[in-house]
Amino acid sequence: MERQSNSAVEVAKIEVAACTRLLNFEGVLGYSGHVSQRLPDGETLLIQAFDASRNDLTPEDLYVIDLDGNVLDGDPHARPVNELEIHSELLRARRDINAVLHWHPEIATLFTMVDGIDLVPMKNHAYRWSSGIPTHPESWHIDTQERGQAMVKTMGDKNAVLLRAHGAVIGAESIPALMVDAVHFDENAKALFDASRLGTPTPLTKRESEEFAANFKRTNHSVKLWRYYVSRGHEAGVIPDDWAQNLAPKERA
Ligand SMILES: [Zn+2]
Repeated sequence: MERQSNSAVEVAKIEVAACTRLLNFEGVLGYSGHVSQRLPDGETLLIQAFDASRNDLTPEDLYVIDLDGNVLDGDPHARPVNELEIHSELLRARRDINAVLHWHPEIATLFTMVDGIDLVPMKNHAYRWSSGIPTHPESWHIDTQERGQAMVKTMGDKNAVLLRAHGAVIGAESIPALMVDAVHFDENAKALFDASRLGTPTPLTKRESEEFAANFKRTNHSVKLWRYYVSRGHEAGVIPDDWAQNLAPKERA
């Protein structure tokens, strides 16, 4: 296991707490749902306490756990979230993913509860899910390794999975990219829902997805939107002053 500096872990904690607060502030997360981030050693992750508020989450509310779910650091008077196996099993299986969001989006989850209409990419930024958004058929909480592994199997090499009558899971390479993916995932589900009320939806074609992806600078886009959301949150008091400097993007978009 690679050594990791205390400062790297502290910055990662601020990123997870900030992302959670920002997703709540922007209406993506609510009273439930959770963000995790893989730590630099590759084999441990950060995840919040089950009862900590998404509205004012702090770095002290986070646990360090290993991929088997063992708590290595954190408040002994609480415990990690119930569905931590969503995160630990996805991060174990997918080395291209370093940040995970599980939440219970109202509109996207509707598509797990109707016959004959699947959640598909509609808007250009949804090219991210052009290889598919599978639905895991079980509606129970993912709170064991076995259930986590079954969910990971359903997800395969895709970047998102819906959980029937429950919610969704997305993975990304970094916290800023995860935040941006979450916003676009919700935008896309709403676009399909609204389009289906207007008429017959015309999803993004494979060719349109490929053309968009070929000219799209994902890192630059993530940095640009992360800067926007951090700035909005900072101005509104959601992001404390002393966090803001740690959240400054490393490169310009
Ligand atoms: Zn859940």
